[in-house]
Amino acid sequence: MKSQVILLTCKDYDETRIYEELKWGIESLGGVGHFVRTDERILLKPNLLRKADIDSAVVTHPLVVSAVARILQEAGCNHITYGDSAGVGSTEKIARGCGLTGEMEKLGIPLDNFADCVLADYPEGKAAKRFHMAKAVVKTDALINISKMKTHQLERMTGAVKNMYGCIQGLHKAKGHTKYSNAESFARMLIDLNKFVNPKLYVMDGITGMEGNGPASGTPVDMGVLLLSTDPVALDSVCCALMNLKPELVPTNVQGEKMGLGVWREEDIEVLTRDGILTTSQVGKNYGKQDYDVNRGREVRRIWRQLRWLSRHFQRKPYIVESQCIRCGICVEACPVEGKAIHLDKPNAPVYDYKKCIACFCCQEMCPQKAIQVK
Ligand code: SF4
Ligand code: SF4
Repeated sequence: MKSQVILLTCKDYDETRIYEELKWGIESLGGVGHFVRTDERILLKPNLLRKADIDSAVVTHPLVVSAVARILQEAGCNHITYGDSAGVGSTEKIARGCGLTGEMEKLGIPLDNFADCVLADYPEGKAAKRFHMAKAVVKTDALINISKMKTHQLERMTGAVKNMYGCIQGLHKAKGHTKYSNAESFARMLIDLNKFVNPKLYVMDGITGMEGNGPASGTPVDMGVLLLSTDPVALDSVCCALMNLKPELVPTNVQGEKMGLGVWREEDIEVLTRDGILTTSQVGKNYGKQDYDVNRGREVRRIWRQLRWLSRHFQRKPYIVESQCIRCGICVEACPVEGKAIHLDKPNAPVYDYKKCIACFCCQEMCPQKAIQVK
């Protein structure tokens, strides 16, 4: 049987339209009762990467999260919370700053800031056998993942699969980048994480996506879609079609299929729209942006990766646009490498030590000034 992805169109953040489309989408997948029981504790997991203006497309739009919550409440679910572990800053401030707290307060739904951590064992894991998880994730009965369509420097795009990384608590996220230090091993860890938490439903906010220097410093782009699926790999593969990116170039897709999380191939996916069933190619043609600014380059071959000293010359690297840098030092704090691969010696802009750099791009992700680019 094919994996089903629902594609809904919404040209802007109109509250009623988002609600109606998501309601139709959830009903098309079997209805709320197909995913959760009304007596279960349900956790909504948006992307709250960092403090950002809502129009910058860094975080999941509050109206998408609140529409999902409303649909659940109307079906009788009364034990709902929402939360995320922010990349930088306080989750409370990010949620309030982008308007999410206000929307959820209207529904009487509290925030969990993912401050408490538990070490969760996952013996079945192929790449990761334990996780430093936010306690809220472990104690919930059902998690619903509500991601944002964005580019990502390590994994090319971030969507359904990658959004689960916010379930890792606080600074343990940065440490994970040293343990899983390339795109492939990081993807394998993410697949284990998705399998361990087992979200009941994946929703993607692609009404406005992000292209270019994502996932925090890119350019907002109107895409006008919402995606839903129980298969996060298939959902991300449809997202790739919208970005005109070959799905096999995204490590979370390839590893996701190999490790049994989902499927990325066109022949294994059907996309249900209000206008009928489409293939991923048709989705790309009808709804995609052919010049979506995303990394479509071939990856460095394994043989070169093994020759680390030589591959350094060819690897993508972060660099600083000095005129945009305010010398805040957040990039240095974000660097997970022992002894740091980036140093700040004020009044100069930070300097990279590329010999130590593992190209995790945490510094680029966390820079509040969009001063870090990738070459
Ligand atoms: S985080 Fe950005 S603005 Fe701050 S010091 Fe680093 S490069 Fe400069
Ligand atoms: S300098 Fe930046 S890209 Fe390099 S290891 Fe540190 S955080 Fe990662």
